[in-house]
Amino acid sequence: MVTSLIAMTAWGLGSVLWAELVRDFYHLLAHYWTPLYRLHVWHHRVFRPDLTAVNDTIYREAHWRNDVPEALAMLVLGLLPWGVAYTVAPEQHWAALLGCLYTLTFLFSAIARGSGIKWAEELTDVTHRPGQFLTPPSRWFVNRTYHWRHHFDNQKAYYCGTLTLVDQLMGTALSFKGKTVAVTGASGTLGQALLATLHERGAKVMALTSREQSVSLTVKGENIPVKTMTWQVGQESDLAAILETVDILILNHGINVHGERTADAIAQSYEINTFSSWRLMELFFSTVRTNQEMATKEVWVNTSEAEASPAFSPLYELSKRALGDLVTLRRLDAPCVVRKLILGPFKSNLNPIGVMSGDWVAKQIVNLAVRDVRNIIVTINPLTFVMFPLKQLFVGLYFKLFSRRADLQAVKSEVVSGNIAIKGLAQK
Ligand SMILES: [Zn+2]
Ligand SMILES: [Zn+2]
Repeated sequence: MVTSLIAMTAWGLGSVLWAELVRDFYHLLAHYWTPLYRLHVWHHRVFRPDLTAVNDTIYREAHWRNDVPEALAMLVLGLLPWGVAYTVAPEQHWAALLGCLYTLTFLFSAIARGSGIKWAEELTDVTHRPGQFLTPPSRWFVNRTYHWRHHFDNQKAYYCGTLTLVDQLMGTALSFKGKTVAVTGASGTLGQALLATLHERGAKVMALTSREQSVSLTVKGENIPVKTMTWQVGQESDLAAILETVDILILNHGINVHGERTADAIAQSYEINTFSSWRLMELFFSTVRTNQEMATKEVWVNTSEAEASPAFSPLYELSKRALGDLVTLRRLDAPCVVRKLILGPFKSNLNPIGVMSGDWVAKQIVNLAVRDVRNIIVTINPLTFVMFPLKQLFVGLYFKLFSRRADLQAVKSEVVSGNIAIKGLAQK
């Protein structure tokens, strides 16, 4: 009885997942096969960047030419899992029709929208509703912010409609095309490698460094100068204007005082590894205001493997752990995507005995980022793959339970009405 129930659930959910896979591959095909693109392009003609429809006629026409055929493809191919179930598990074959039933809701809502029924638009076209975005692109389910990027960031990426799985598999969950990516610690081994890799992937790269000389890259034997901005730890606010123009900020600067334990070493480690990165992250958050910025801006923080595993350098570990925890805490309210880079020892000036090469690490980071991995682990230490996710899960949960979101709106209205001052006086 129980096994048959489990089997029915598996067939049912499997057929729904199949329907979603068909939807996303249909969409993908539409961008690579001209006859299908001629129909699909109507979907791209409909919306303005604020997601309002250009006009009613095009909105309705787009449904007949794109959404209805897409749902029909899902319906027809949805018979496949049913056929398979009919052959291998005849007792559960009805459950495999759940995918078709699920698809029918999309078919009927597409027909309703095509017929101009207003409430159907509001109720069913959830990824195209206009208005302020409330959260950054989400990780597993497509939200408005996620899908907006397919229309207005890069049409050759972000294909998914409901689940983000296909984009993760295809590496189309993040596009660097035309994006400005700034990297701190740009003169270091990993900084240089990241700049080169991102340049190859179509990004406009920018180097942020404390050294006076400008950074250049050697790509395929060619010397490419990189726009270089010089800044100093403690003067993060000098970068405010630059950060307005940056799409992806990678915080990668740091020091390792190795075995030192003086007061100076403590101050320096925390100032550079923890607080400087934290201040830049906050400054970057303040540049995320519009829907477009919420959808496309990102900050990546190199908190290193030392966040969860020994790095044989106590102050490096302490300061990187503090940074990692601050990122976990602030990520709860971040207006844009925040990724952590959890990196094992790679060969660099900071760490001459590292095993991995900077270039290899940079390539892995980028390969995982385009799969939308938010905690990017690149290391040869198998323990980190166990320790870090566990730490992240429990610390994240703990921070969520015992801290709260600043209710900016309430504070603002209280300031306006003078309530805070009055309350303050009453307490005295
Ligand atoms: Zn769309
Ligand atoms: Zn498309």
